[in-house]
Amino acid sequence: MAIPYGHQSINDDDVQAVVKALTSDWLTTGPAVSDFEEAICRVAEAEEAVVVSSGTAALHCAYIAADVGPDDEVVTSPLTFMATAATAANLGAKVVFADVQEDTGNIDPDAVADAVSDRTRVVAAVDFAGHPADLDPLLDLAHDRGALLLEDAAHSIGSMYRDRAIGSVADLTTFSFFATKNLTTAEGGAIVGKAGPVMVAARECRNHGLVRDKARQRHPDEGPWHQEVHRFGLNFRLPDVLCALGSSQLARLAVFKQRRREIFDRYQQGLDGVPGVKLPVLRDDVDPMWHLYPLRILEGRRRQVYDFLREQGVLVQVNYLPAYWHPAFEDLGYRRGICPVAERYYHEELSLPMYADLSPGEQDRVIDLVRQAVR
Ligand SMILES: *Cc1c(COP(=O)(O)O)cnc(C)c1O
Repeated sequence: MAIPYGHQSINDDDVQAVVKALTSDWLTTGPAVSDFEEAICRVAEAEEAVVVSSGTAALHCAYIAADVGPDDEVVTSPLTFMATAATAANLGAKVVFADVQEDTGNIDPDAVADAVSDRTRVVAAVDFAGHPADLDPLLDLAHDRGALLLEDAAHSIGSMYRDRAIGSVADLTTFSFFATKNLTTAEGGAIVGKAGPVMVAARECRNHGLVRDKARQRHPDEGPWHQEVHRFGLNFRLPDVLCALGSSQLARLAVFKQRRREIFDRYQQGLDGVPGVKLPVLRDDVDPMWHLYPLRILEGRRRQVYDFLREQGVLVQVNYLPAYWHPAFEDLGYRRGICPVAERYYHEELSLPMYADLSPGEQDRVIDLVRQAVR
């Protein structure tokens, strides 16, 4: 039996929650949407949450809400899924890549200090593998330039940074509820932040940018039916049925976090002292909900270890190709070499299986095979 790198964890409560929503009067936007948003606010210690149809949609709405456009720059990490940068590029912004820290793979505040300019509208950090980025210094750097800090927390719902929940620190935080993430709605995502105009814009963006609040309309006398668009949005709504699944999953977040921590610790013990590998680090001011276990394979042997594990049915992954290596960025003139630390990290990275239902026996098999592979 193959062991995937990530897998959803669905139980009877989840099934019942979905069936209940499916047989209610609502399929799309009903009470399960606001219930899920309230539950996210509690976990993320956030004032406002807006659920949307994917983590990518969350990033897209967050950039729109932050007013990112063609005259603006967005500073972000290259060691991320393409969506963090692509959603900004899609709005016409110039993406500026800042290199990562050697230990965590998270965007380096020193590199951000060199990358920001008066045109920077957003600094977008990514909590690689679930380990929070260095948020306090990044907030200062962004605010000094009149920019917002966006945290792509697709990996890190449930993580803590300096005793604060992820979702309560950055100006805007986005989550993904894709199947392999820390909790799932199949496809889904959310934007969280403090109450205010930016979150109002994020909420409107989800629904075509429609403004229904009479007090904010330009032409309120049009009639009681009237709603108007101030900023173009799209349909990014997350249906009731999926929100019901999300609330049910969120109720088990602490269990998922505990299991992921146990798996992380078992890898750390099982791979400790193995020559030719480097284990992930845990800084002392964070408490991560681990999404990935990013092992580093040294001496140029990552490909060999990848092939061996895959042949043995351990479906390891590589996270991530530096974003600017994608031809879409190459065609815009980005060249290899601009973020050497991220490139080296990519050359070495191998994500081992990490998900709540991974059994100790399966995990021991993975550890054994890694030991064989690097021998
Ligand atoms: C998964 C992911 C996304 C995109 O989320 P989707 O829900 O798949 O659209 C964005 N950023 C990072 C870092 C991710 O891992």
